[in-house]
Amino acid sequence: MPTLTLPAEGGCRCGRVRLKISAKPLLTMACHCTGCQSMSSSAYSLSAAIPAEGFEITKGEPVVGGLHGASKHYFCGYCMTWMFTRPEGIDWFVNLRPTMLDDHAWFAPFIETWTSEKLPWAATSAVHSYEALPSFEEYEPLVAEYAGTQA
Ligand SMILES: [Zn+2]
Ligand SMILES: [Zn+2]
Repeated sequence: MPTLTLPAEGGCRCGRVRLKISAKPLLTMACHCTGCQSMSSSAYSLSAAIPAEGFEITKGEPVVGGLHGASKHYFCGYCMTWMFTRPEGIDWFVNLRPTMLDDHAWFAPFIETWTSEKLPWAATSAVHSYEALPSFEEYEPLVAEYAGTQA
C-alpha cells in the first residue's frame, strides 16, 4: 500500500486554491448520505480528518458553498471544486477531501457512514460501517484503532 508522506500539498481542479497538510489524518471516511451524493456528484464523499494545526491554505481564498449552514463547506470560487469541510461546532480538525492532494494513492476510508442512504451497488473497503453516524463516544476508540493501522 502507498503511504502518506508529509508535508503533502494539493489543490483544486484549476489550481487557484492550493493547500498543504503537515499532520496525519485522525480518521478517514466515506459518507454515503444523499447530501454528499449531491455535493460530490458521485456515490459518496471521501474525508480525511486533518488536525487543524496541520492544515494550511497556501494559495487563493476558498469560498463557502453547499448549504451555507452550520457546517462550512469550502470550494474553489473559480472551478467550484468541493475541497474541505469545517464541521459544525468543531475547530480542531478539518475534513479534507483527500483527492485534493496531489498524491492521494495512500487514501482508503477506515469508516463509512450513512449506509442507510447508499446506492445499492456502492461498496468501499471501510473496516467499520454505520447506518448513520458513529455515536460521539465511538470516535475516540475509532481514532485510536485507525492510528494503530497506520503505525
Ligand atoms: Zn479551482
Ligand atoms: Zn455525507
